[in-house]
Amino acid sequence: MLEIYNSLTRFKETFKPLHEGHVGMYVCGPTVYGDAHLGHARPAITFDLLYRYLQYLGYKVRYVRNITDVGHLEHDADEGEDKIAKKARLEQLEPMEVVQFYTNRYHRDMAALNVLPPSIEPHASGHIIEQIAFVQKILDKGYAYVSNGSVYMDVEKYAKDYPYGKLSGRNLNDIVTETRELDGQDEKKHSYDFALWKKAAPEHIMKWPSPWSEGFPGWHMECSTMGTKYLGEQFDIHGGGLDLIFPHHEAEIAQSCAALGHESVHYWMHNNMITIAGKKMGKSYNNFITLEQFFSGNHPLLSKPFGPMVIRFFILQAHYRSTVDFSSEALEAAEKGLQRMQEAYARLIKLQAGKETTVEVVGLRQRCTEAMDDDLNTPFVIAALFDSTRAINTVHDGKGTISEADLKELREVWHTFAIDILGLRLEEQSADGGKQKAFSGAIDLLLNIRLQAKQNKDWATSDKIRNELTALGFQIKDTKDGFEWSL
Ligand code: ZN
Repeated sequence: MLEIYNSLTRFKETFKPLHEGHVGMYVCGPTVYGDAHLGHARPAITFDLLYRYLQYLGYKVRYVRNITDVGHLEHDADEGEDKIAKKARLEQLEPMEVVQFYTNRYHRDMAALNVLPPSIEPHASGHIIEQIAFVQKILDKGYAYVSNGSVYMDVEKYAKDYPYGKLSGRNLNDIVTETRELDGQDEKKHSYDFALWKKAAPEHIMKWPSPWSEGFPGWHMECSTMGTKYLGEQFDIHGGGLDLIFPHHEAEIAQSCAALGHESVHYWMHNNMITIAGKKMGKSYNNFITLEQFFSGNHPLLSKPFGPMVIRFFILQAHYRSTVDFSSEALEAAEKGLQRMQEAYARLIKLQAGKETTVEVVGLRQRCTEAMDDDLNTPFVIAALFDSTRAINTVHDGKGTISEADLKELREVWHTFAIDILGLRLEEQSADGGKQKAFSGAIDLLLNIRLQAKQNKDWATSDKIRNELTALGFQIKDTKDGFEWSL
């Protein structure tokens, strides 16, 4: 049995793929019933980084990231209804219309963040037959039972043969006290049994025939099924957010062991969570900021718009296993850091080589490589690149020289680590950033003139600026300190 459950600590020494030269990697993807927010950006960027780095190391990577488009009960206990079906009912849409709409928007946001598309992006709804077969296997092995048309994992029976809870470090007693009272409790033998197949209520829209009932698969089932379908009964890496360890990934392990007799995943890897101004993101805190709102600045918690590269840079500034706290101030600091990097890169491209090297540039590639090998230590990579900006600026200011060969190497290291591996768009963004700054500056200037006109009771000028900007598509809001605008 595979026994490894940890992050890729000391990546270079510990990571051994199952098949030489190839890596199979599965990451839990988005549930597409709403717009992507920061909680989606972090795993997407973390595993994009890993995907890029594995390819840099020469591996052929098959990267599978699923689309969860079948509702799941475990995720939100207070709603028994499939979230996609609910959204469809409220908006009078075909459920697959909702799925497609939010999938398109997710792809748009990921492209803006420069997250590469995965090799395969399977939909849970497209793999119902395979999921039914997987459930049947678990039933055949005796680790599940049918109750009132639903199928549940018999956790107690399973735990006699396999160590349930080993990934999250829980035992059954912990799990009993943690498990909330969920829908279907009266059908289960024990509160910790989880649904493999759920019988649908008559009003439920998204349901499929099965040997047990018209219904839908439990949430954990799709990842076990699609992971092993596309990557094999055993595969290298399974990733996702830390919040998925329990119950989702623990349940996946149980499903694989029960159906296949062994675990499927060789390395589990989890990114830590994002808080906003010190608080967990959640409906009750009303602090969900969608990526679109970051890009437009249209949210009360944001001081201004933040470009996708600022978001990416901000996330990569922290190690993926550390928590990250978002605030407008922290983003503004990240924006400055990114700008410094963009300026240094623009200078580096234009530098002229001299006869010899009088600045410190040796060892940069090694520092960056060692940092990446040390469990993807992106803050160290960024620090190493920043250190090299001193040499770039010294040569740029005419206070030092760099040889042809060293300049070529320096440019290559920047290109490899900043652009290819960290995935930062350094060139385009500096042009974009400059344009955006000029644009925002011009609108602020106009609105300041309007503010002055208002103070002088020059209503004609004030109204003209407001009306014409509104006609152009701007939304202008007067506030007690002045104004806010968005496009
Ligand atoms: Zn999953």
